Amino acid sequence: MIPIAKPMIGEEEKQAVLEVLESGMLAQGPRVQALEEAFAEYCGVKYAVATSSGTTALHVALLAHGIGPGDEVITTPFTFIASANSILYVGARPVFVDIDPATFNIRPDLLENAITPRTKAIMPVHLFGLPADMDPILEVAERYGLVVVEDACQAHGAEYKGKRVGGFGTGCFSFYPTKNITTAEGGIITTNDEKIAERCRVIRQHGMRRRYYHDELGFNFRMSDVHAAIGLAQLRKLEQFNEVRIANARYLSEHLRGVVVPVVPEGRRHVFHQYTVRVPDGRRDAVLDGLRERGIGTAVYYPVPVHQQRLYRDMGYNLVLPEAERAAQEVLSLPVHPGLSRADLENIVDAVNELCA
Ligand SMILES: *Cc1c(COP(=O)(O)O)cnc(C)c1O
Repeated sequence: MIPIAKPMIGEEEKQAVLEVLESGMLAQGPRVQALEEAFAEYCGVKYAVATSSGTTALHVALLAHGIGPGDEVITTPFTFIASANSILYVGARPVFVDIDPATFNIRPDLLENAITPRTKAIMPVHLFGLPADMDPILEVAERYGLVVVEDACQAHGAEYKGKRVGGFGTGCFSFYPTKNITTAEGGIITTNDEKIAERCRVIRQHGMRRRYYHDELGFNFRMSDVHAAIGLAQLRKLEQFNEVRIANARYLSEHLRGVVVPVVPEGRRHVFHQYTVRVPDGRRDAVLDGLRERGIGTAVYYPVPVHQQRLYRDMGYNLVLPEAERAAQEVLSLPVHPGLSRADLENIVDAVNELCA
């Protein structure tokens, strides 16, 4: 079986974890700080704040911007549930607008229509590793005085017009094992705003500025030094991993037949967290079964758009977002991770072409 995702853990990560374990200092400490500094530099931003997950990164970022009950945040319905749920955690309301069928990302031209006096933020998701179309998103945000919180959980190292994601607004990344780099569990917030960085640090650690003095309600959303040590070793390999993902994606796009391969608009660097194709004409589920029978790991990201999830239906969401709904019926992700051999890639191509061409 060729797995759909595979964490790339080597001797460096093992050695780094052993060093932390032997140091006797396991909780948030010098390695977390080192990871924050290195990741901020990688993203080209001034500050980074590590958290326990990508989900808590989004939660903390929204709180740090003062978003809460009565506020609305515009986001995409075609994403992992955590993007929208983070908006619910702070008591705000997710407002969904449809996606561009070519890129699977939020459609900037629909934003303005979704803005109300309650709108406080836009949360684009750089889905599958492809940056959202940031220029028009930033333009609308600027014009209406809205905050931009980027869900970059799938897009470490992705670029829009030569600039890395996470630097356009407040960036949130995940280090879950399937992501482009991992800390096992973990996340990180990126920002150029010193006050936001400071707010994130306080919220992450029980609302505490001075030890055991608590001015506000915070959380324990810390990362441990064990996790940060893995992250530091992984970060050194991130560019190499991304280059292999990009090369694997290029091979697949050149050889696959009968499916719609991913689009990379001019001026964007897609880092292929997922390589996602469309299988038209209602054949997706048959192709999915056929690939699994042939030993190809495959998955549907995502089978149900957020606004159609039971949780959201029960809250009264009943809008129709045709492109997100069609994508959920047609998409299929194929292995693209850096652990693939040339033979694996050939097997994936042969299997897809046999089923689809
Ligand atoms: C993975 C992911 C998250 C959540 O990250 P965790 O580390 O799993 O909490 C949020 N948004 C998107 C788009 C993701 O892919």
